[in-house]
Amino acid sequence: MVDSSLITVTNVVKRYRSETVLKGIDLNIGAGECVVLVGHNGAGKTTLMKLILGLIKPTEGAISVLGFDPSKDRARLLRKGLGYLPERVAFYESMTGLEVLRFYARLKSEPIAGCDEILESVGLFDAKERPVQTYSKGMKQRLGLAQALLGDPQFLLLDEPTSGLDPVVRRQVYDLINRKCAEGKTAIISSHSLNEVESQADHVVIMNEGEVIVSGSMESLYEQSGLPTIITLSVQEENKDRVLEQINGLTSSISVKDSKIEISCSQKDKMTVLQAVMSLDNGVDDIQISAPKLDDIYLHFIPNKVVASEREEETRA
Ligand code: ADP
Repeated sequence: MVDSSLITVTNVVKRYRSETVLKGIDLNIGAGECVVLVGHNGAGKTTLMKLILGLIKPTEGAISVLGFDPSKDRARLLRKGLGYLPERVAFYESMTGLEVLRFYARLKSEPIAGCDEILESVGLFDAKERPVQTYSKGMKQRLGLAQALLGDPQFLLLDEPTSGLDPVVRRQVYDLINRKCAEGKTAIISSHSLNEVESQADHVVIMNEGEVIVSGSMESLYEQSGLPTIITLSVQEENKDRVLEQINGLTSSISVKDSKIEISCSQKDKMTVLQAVMSLDNGVDDIQISAPKLDDIYLHFIPNKVVASEREEETRA
């Protein structure tokens, strides 16, 4: 992993006529990070990606990618190191998958010899001679990903890469992104599907109405949210009082329901509570620990917005 200032976004404002769609974004992205941009529709995720790609210019502020301004002189050179998957991909339907990829390879001045290997990596090798019009939505999306992978770019910008895909293909796409990040590539992914990107992210950026509301690792977002971890103990009736006595005073929020004791505690107190529970001999039959998920954290920071469910997303697609 290299150091922290691979992509720097400094006080970036983007205005379209009277509408301000990004309102002073500051962001630092390090090399090798898998960054996930989350936010409802219209939050500004795509606009931010386009600015990083140099496709549009900021109205105010500055963007630096590897020390260069992506919208200026070195942009063409720089873009060779960027792979971009737009939210909606469209290809010439009568061309085969291989022809499409070779076409993009020529546009990017990349050798066409590598196309087979890329198609293999996205699971399209067997379908490479078929026209795109016979491809499913998932296959087209994977062809889009293949196009983004041409030239083995250092950064991948993937706008809703799994939108409209079935769960198996979604997993395959994320496995591929994981492999790229493990090789030291930097990935910036935007997504509505909080649950599926949660395990993926080194760095989560929650956006709302053109602003970064909070940004950092899942752990740091969790800490900043102050949301509790819930520890649920399964205990037999005869042990209940003994267990309650042991944990009493460790945390203020304990509730009892039938054979379950539910303890709500901060991240900081979690280990103290668990140690107290573990020191009991035969008092507890089972323990479940439930930390806040990304959707809990999202709703904490943006309480009045509901992120599109996967079902809605599939309908849109
Ligand atoms: P997201 O990717 O989070 O859904 P976008 O970045 O696509 O959000 O859009 C953010 C806001 O910017 C939206 O209100 C959208 O309508 C507006 N917007 C995006 N592109 C343009 C444009 N070319 N002209 C005017 N408004 C735009």
